[in-house]
Amino acid sequence: MVVPKVWVPEWNDWCPGCGNFGILNAEQQAITELGLTHEDVVVVSGIGCSGKTPHFFRLPISGVHTLHGRALTFATGIKLSNPELTVIVNGGDGDQLGIGVGHFVSAGRRNVDMLVILHDNGVYGLTKGQASPTLRRGEKTKSLPRPNVNDNVNPIALAISSGFTFVARSYAYDVKHLKELIKMGIKHKGLALIDVLQPCPTYNDIHTKEYFDKRVYKLDSDPSWDPVVRKPEEEGEKMSRAILKSLEWGEKIPIGLFYQNELVPPYEERIASNAPSYKERTPAKTKIEAEGKLL
Ligand code: SF4
Repeated sequence: MVVPKVWVPEWNDWCPGCGNFGILNAEQQAITELGLTHEDVVVVSGIGCSGKTPHFFRLPISGVHTLHGRALTFATGIKLSNPELTVIVNGGDGDQLGIGVGHFVSAGRRNVDMLVILHDNGVYGLTKGQASPTLRRGEKTKSLPRPNVNDNVNPIALAISSGFTFVARSYAYDVKHLKELIKMGIKHKGLALIDVLQPCPTYNDIHTKEYFDKRVYKLDSDPSWDPVVRKPEEEGEKMSRAILKSLEWGEKIPIGLFYQNELVPPYEERIASNAPSYKERTPAKTKIEAEGKLL
């Protein structure tokens, strides 16, 4: 299969240089390489610059542009109605970790089998660059009159402690790295988060491409880094190690897989074991699993 290196949408109103382009390219390449079609994939978004992601796909996918902070609830309904689908949520840190943070935590507790791609840029780009939940206290972007007075949310630590079972970070300008993590997140059985460092050149003049280019490093460059839980007794240690690693931020910023645990049953399985009628209506295995594409 020939996979184009770069997808250029025919129409797109993201600002030139926006990290969202890298995310969209990586997402399209991952879907293409997995051989998924519009019959397999639904891309769900909330409100914000990232909310436009389903509109800008040049692949034939199904997409739903929903309400502010509510993408995860729509996505959960879609997945429970038809577990055969691959459901991907795109949301900014304002959308997912501000107004939507309750749904973020609740989805983690349920471990619904979906992928969440967090467009993490530290600002509300669509509404002129107010401070959003991942901007650190004391930081002053060019869009703020004074430094931010709130402490930031750590998406990796929050996701792990909420129950997400695949938690990773990537960088919007490293499309290849992000594409591979998206493929892993889609294959993962349970709720996956990829926190994507996404420069917003229009409003965030602190966390720029130049800032990240010299700081990001890959977790798997350390051969002793093993984030996968293989036995129940490993869970606590690997969880704590991942959360500790997520606090590293400054001269060095780690990207890659922080934590993965497939021993936790996804929500669909929990419901099926409690309600046999749900199992009869919905196949327990997804279509792509049944066809062996991802095994
Ligand atoms: Fe991207 Fe920022 Fe422009 Fe929004 S405002 S499209 S996040 S560069």
